[in-house]
Amino acid sequence: MSRSNVMSTYGRFDVTFEKGFGCKIYDTDNNEYVDFVSGVATNCLGHSHPIIVNALNEQSSKLMHISNYYWSPEAIKLAEILCKNSDHEQAFFCNSGTEAVEAALKLSRKYGRLASSPDKHKIIYMTNSFHGRSMGSLSVTGQGKYQENFAPLIGGTVSIDFNDIDALNNAFDENVCAVILEPIQGEGGIISANIDFLKEARRLCDKFDSLLIFDEIQCGMGRTGSLFAYKKFNVIPDIVCLAKALGGGFPIGAIIANSRCSTSLVPGDHGTTYGGNPLACAVSFAVVKELTEGGIIDSVDEKSSYLVDKLNLLKSKYSIIDDIRGMGLLIGIKINVDPKTFVAECLKEGLLVISAGKDIIRLLPPLNVTLEEIDSALSILEKVLSKFR
Ligand SMILES: *Cc1c(COP(=O)(O)O)cnc(C)c1O
Repeated sequence: MSRSNVMSTYGRFDVTFEKGFGCKIYDTDNNEYVDFVSGVATNCLGHSHPIIVNALNEQSSKLMHISNYYWSPEAIKLAEILCKNSDHEQAFFCNSGTEAVEAALKLSRKYGRLASSPDKHKIIYMTNSFHGRSMGSLSVTGQGKYQENFAPLIGGTVSIDFNDIDALNNAFDENVCAVILEPIQGEGGIISANIDFLKEARRLCDKFDSLLIFDEIQCGMGRTGSLFAYKKFNVIPDIVCLAKALGGGFPIGAIIANSRCSTSLVPGDHGTTYGGNPLACAVSFAVVKELTEGGIIDSVDEKSSYLVDKLNLLKSKYSIIDDIRGMGLLIGIKINVDPKTFVAECLKEGLLVISAGKDIIRLLPPLNVTLEEIDSALSILEKVLSKFR
């Protein structure tokens, strides 16, 4: 097996994984690891969950793909359960987070044009944000390291400092069609939005007839302890972008939109061949049902405080930890040593974690992680921490 045939777009660790069960994953030499990355907040039910495996088996032997020119019960059921559990009326399905963001941006541009004129096309985005890698989503990703090699990006975008209410007011006018933000910035370093900032964004969007887009691709689907992060902040966006845990490890993305804007896109405006295929929708429906009705989301807050309390004990013991932050099972440990080295040490000891921002170690266990599994992760973490003393 030659790794050189795979394009080098990721700084991959020297490990090849073969199988996983729940919170445990195994490499090709059968070494066991505790997985607190979960495919970056994707495998919300852990690996090989029977509910996902069954949905895949059943649906794949029935119907995997049709065209979006036809209906499938699976897509209808998934749209229904998402809308029933949110403040939104309609869903659009795609295959990834980037595509969900892309759909939200296009919907907003069309909304602005319908509401006013082509001049209403301005999109406000946040510094330190991450929304994806396509030219559109990259154009609203407020990090130079991602943007700089790919200029010129799309026009009509304005970046402001995240959580800066004055900057938001200054950037706003009647030509704004949308504001896009993550309620909790994931990639950028587990940075929460201030509630006052979100409320002001909501107020300004209402005042100027603009759309508020929440990118919940990482923080949504139960990770904060609520199916949607916006419910924890009590500010309702017009559009929510979803992906990652929406499929529990199977590729699917979506936006859900309220009745204010969900009909702005009409046949021919936007689409995708694979988006909303019966297989992805059947898996996603099973995942959403298990998350909402299986008591898993309800257990997130308790697991979160258990984990955070113990992390705070480690913080008082090890001076390389500066801060513990986050919400639910989206946890950041701010450290004052190189995070890449730290992550590599954890891998060596059998724990998968991932870095975020400049100095954050991100913990993203599956939402059905047990307290015992949290304890095994913590004991490996402490072993690694003690090496850095
Ligand atoms: C991962 C992520 C994306 C991009 O999703 P892909 O499925 O990789 O395209 C967008 N926004 C946020 C907040 C993310 O965490």
